This record gives sequence, C-alpha cells and structure tokens, in this order.
Amino acid sequence: MSDEINVTGNCYCGNIKVIARVKKSEIRACHCTDCQKFSGAPLRAIAVAPFDKISIEGTPKEYVKIGDSGNKRIQAFCSECGTQLFATDVEKKFFNIRTGLLDQRNDLIPNQHVFTTSSMTWFKKQFFSNI
Ligand SMILES: [Zn+2]
Repeated sequence: MSDEINVTGNCYCGNIKVIARVKKSEIRACHCTDCQKFSGAPLRAIAVAPFDKISIEGTPKEYVKIGDSGNKRIQAFCSECGTQLFATDVEKKFFNIRTGLLDQRNDLIPNQHVFTTSSMTWFKKQFFSNI
C-alpha cells in the first residue's frame, strides 16, 4: 500500500489551483506563533510535496518571511482572496501545502504536532490534556 496520495485544491476565489502528490506520513500540524499569526488560527496543518510533484495554476503572491535565525521562507497566498496556499524554501525545493485548501483534507491527518509549547493555552487544555 502506497503512502502517497494525489491531492487537488484551490483557493477560496478559485484563481489559484494546486495539484500535488504528498505522503500521508508527512502531515504536520504546526502550533508555532508565526503560524498562528499568518493564519489567524490556532494552528496550520501542512502536507509536503517536493517541487517535481506539485503543479500550481495561477500566480500566488509571495511574502518572504525572515526568521530570527535569518532563515528565509516564502509564504504564498492568493492576492485576490487571501487564502494561504503553501510555504517553501527560497530555492523552492519542498512545498508545505496548507491542508485546508485541499479536497482530500479529511484524509490528511496530522501524524506530528510541532511547536506545541506555543499552542494556545485553551487548545492545550482541550486537546492535549493528557500531556
Ligand atoms: Zn483566491
């Protein structure tokens, strides 16, 4: 049984379409404060696709985020409706696609929760009460 799954998706207004092949074993939910800020939500869930397994129709707007370490990350979103699409390195080798825009999102179950130390306190209480 293959770990890989074909995914399709689009932004809210439909100007940008994404087709990719991702690994189900590489679905992550990130609770870092940058993800909270960019998304306006408690976390961002992503599926990873290498550059040769993603195709993007339309032209996303790109914002280059410079981390505390000086590390640059491209944050791509639709310039029309603002839907967040993916983050990628400046060489565009790997794309972290936001699972919320994908049609298969219910099959893309996070198997890793990262930066949970910065999870919103109410989120920790509701979902990580066992920690
Ligand atoms: Zn859009």
